[in-house]
Amino acid sequence: MKTNVLIAGGGIIGSAVAWALAARGVSDVTVVDLDLTGLYASSELNAGGARATWWQPVNVETCAATLEFFREHADAFSFRERGYLWLYGEQMLFEIAKEKLELQNDFGLGVELLTPSDVVERFRTLDPDPARLVGATFSPRDGLVNPNAVRQWYRREAESLGVRFLNRHYVIGVSTTRQADSKRRVTWVEVLEIIGRDPTDREGTIRDILTTHVVPPDRTAAHERIECDVVVNCLGAWSPVFSAKIGVSDVTEPTRRQICMVSVQHEDAQRIGELLSMGMVVDPSDLYFHPEGKDILAGYSIPEEAPGFDFSYDGEGFFMEHVWPRLVQCSSVFERCKHVRGWSGLYAVTPDRSGIAGPVRGFTNLFEAHSFTGRGVMQSYGIATAMAEWIDLGSPSGAITALTRERFADPARWLVEDLHI
Ligand SMILES: Cc1cc2nc3c(=O)[nH]c(=O)nc-3n(C[C@H](O)[C@H](O)[C@H](O)COP(=O)(O)OP(=O)(O)OC[C@H]3O[C@@H](n4cnc5c(N)ncnc54)[C@H](O)[C@@H]3O)c2cc1C
Repeated sequence: MKTNVLIAGGGIIGSAVAWALAARGVSDVTVVDLDLTGLYASSELNAGGARATWWQPVNVETCAATLEFFREHADAFSFRERGYLWLYGEQMLFEIAKEKLELQNDFGLGVELLTPSDVVERFRTLDPDPARLVGATFSPRDGLVNPNAVRQWYRREAESLGVRFLNRHYVIGVSTTRQADSKRRVTWVEVLEIIGRDPTDREGTIRDILTTHVVPPDRTAAHERIECDVVVNCLGAWSPVFSAKIGVSDVTEPTRRQICMVSVQHEDAQRIGELLSMGMVVDPSDLYFHPEGKDILAGYSIPEEAPGFDFSYDGEGFFMEHVWPRLVQCSSVFERCKHVRGWSGLYAVTPDRSGIAGPVRGFTNLFEAHSFTGRGVMQSYGIATAMAEWIDLGSPSGAITALTRERFADPARWLVEDLHI
């Protein structure tokens, strides 16, 4: 098979790049993914937070563009502009937050500074010990989104413009040739079609391949070499596995992140009503939560989590040790609440916690867009439209050029993003 652009990975980033390329008129685009239902894709396993309130200009810019796009499709994406309330417990961090206000508000975010007493007056269902807070920011234009609806939209629109999405296709090999200018060119990508039609992955085939990178021989139906003019690595937490095949050493580490759903029982219906109408709240302890239907979705990134392709969920233990004590510190409404269920997914974490995007140095036709830590959904449109421009025209507009992997060679060029959860 031959294609013009081959995109490895059909998560939200690969789907968005495919759509953005097709929308620019680039023809013959193919996306390959081991599992387009996304059972283990971060795009299906995330918290649905969407904010442009970041500290690095490129992150603010690309997320602000994405939020604008979410607003245009608010109904289709269930985008709810309910704001992000960020509570600070450390004076030093709060001072940085104040400094960043100008940058954020230049993008029209309207971020407000709040005192601890503003917080409890304005968000009456929260009653943190005032001694835990030094201040807060509230970003009214941020919100919550249905990430699956967004990914489906990118895919559907891309397909309607002629993009092919090949499911159960696993990238196992990449062939390159050396050019006259000593750069390399990707000539073909080898994919395996994996047998196994059970979309619920009850046999565990998909999970086993995505955690061990070994394909059981009896699961292979067909090898195919796809010749391509351009290749884009959009494999998220698996991007280093691809890079390793072409001798590029990656800085990204896949890291487990857990989320749980919590049901709240309280006799005061008004407090519950207020809680369920809030947006995202980030506690000084780094716990985050927001309403999801009649329950609360809460997440916490355990700082000492070791890197790895680990999809296990610690269940009640995660809730009792990490989530519940932090929820109660934020609001007494959580004194009586129940762990309902939870899951884990992978963050693709870089040393500066900003993503990687652009052409891969040393190659004439290889691009990459991955490793967006906890930001891939809210950055998807901004990154995809800039990447499509880069691939189509040879250079992008906007700040995205700061995201190439070359920055890691010089710590002065790192885009350290400290406003992460
Ligand atoms: C718990 C959690 C909470 C998060 N919360 C938020 C949030 O609130 N807001 C936000 O914006 N972001 C959030 N994120 C981050 C966001 O989900 C990711 O940044 C984003 O989904 C990454 O998308 P992607 O397309 O790069 O990767 P993925 O969605 O992971 O897609 C990668 C794809 O590659 C495929 N694949 C892997 N290896 C191969 C191979 N060899 N061949 C073929 N296919 C392969 C996989 O099947 C997968 O579909 C969260 C992430 C997690 C885990």
